[in-house]
Amino acid sequence: MRLSAPVLVLLSLLVLTACATSEPSTIASTREPASATITPTPSPSPLAVATVPRATSAPTIAPMLTPTPTVAPTPIPIYHGPPYTVAIEAGHGGPHWWGTAGYDADGNHLAEKDLALDTALRLGGLLREAGFETVLIRDGDFTLTPFDGVNYRPSMIAETQARVEIANARRADILVSIHFNGAYSALHGTETYYNPDRLFGAESYALAWFVQAEVLSALGGLGHDVNDRGVRNDAEVGGDPNNAHSYLLGTNDGFRPSLMPGIISEALFLSNPDDAARIAEEETRQRLAEAYRDGIAAYFAWLSPRIPPATLTPAPTLTPTPVATLTPTPPRQCCTFSLW
Ligand SMILES: [Zn+2]
Repeated sequence: MRLSAPVLVLLSLLVLTACATSEPSTIASTREPASATITPTPSPSPLAVATVPRATSAPTIAPMLTPTPTVAPTPIPIYHGPPYTVAIEAGHGGPHWWGTAGYDADGNHLAEKDLALDTALRLGGLLREAGFETVLIRDGDFTLTPFDGVNYRPSMIAETQARVEIANARRADILVSIHFNGAYSALHGTETYYNPDRLFGAESYALAWFVQAEVLSALGGLGHDVNDRGVRNDAEVGGDPNNAHSYLLGTNDGFRPSLMPGIISEALFLSNPDDAARIAEEETRQRLAEAYRDGIAAYFAWLSPRIPPATLTPAPTLTPTPVATLTPTPPRQCCTFSLW
């Protein structure tokens, strides 16, 4: 066993936000996405069609508890034209929140927080080059809140809340969370999580679908042994006891939720030797960042034709121009001034 006991403790706590440790489960339900006006069957980009096995054509969602939000937040408007703002959350960070651990091909230790940050920074640059506005929720190895290394759960909730607050305050159009997965060593592959039970569940699904496709394409292009573990319900990673969804994407008790479509990407398993060796390569992280950029761009391209035309400004009601009251011309009195 390569992982030390403290690391295993960390792994056991990762379910709070991401890095699912569960086995793939059969997800089946007839529950419809919250948005009835959108059929979340995004058309993939030509690249994705050519190189990536299609994801399931429609979300199949497991039954779950109906979330009872403690607040009634107003989602940030989705359907508008550019510029678009992308909030990027590099998973974990700081001295007490390392995330999953792994080892590269030479046995060197790898920390998820570092690899997620590196990928996030690359993605930020690529998105800005492509004309997006970005919010790097963390751009260094730190947490936004005092993070207690003992009381993990409240610390992680508070930290996640702080991260969500930034995305909300900056009115980001989407929230993209970058992680690398952790489980037992044989498990490997690519997952993208979303929450179907929000008002923007369909949009989150579309975003997850495009990102998953691009990540698979990128890994395949690197010659990696691609394993498509699918676009998945974030209920698998769990939230508070009354709410299966993640804190980042859900509406957990006492938590001010994110207000925009969002995903949690788990591109590879750091706990799997082959995946970890791949993540350790700089080229892989660059290609993953490019895949995120392409998936995000594909999402907004998918969104674009659904943007309702600008509401026409109604023609102003014409106010009848008052006809000048003519001063009646007094009847000419003939010859008043006649000299004769
Ligand atoms: Zn993680």
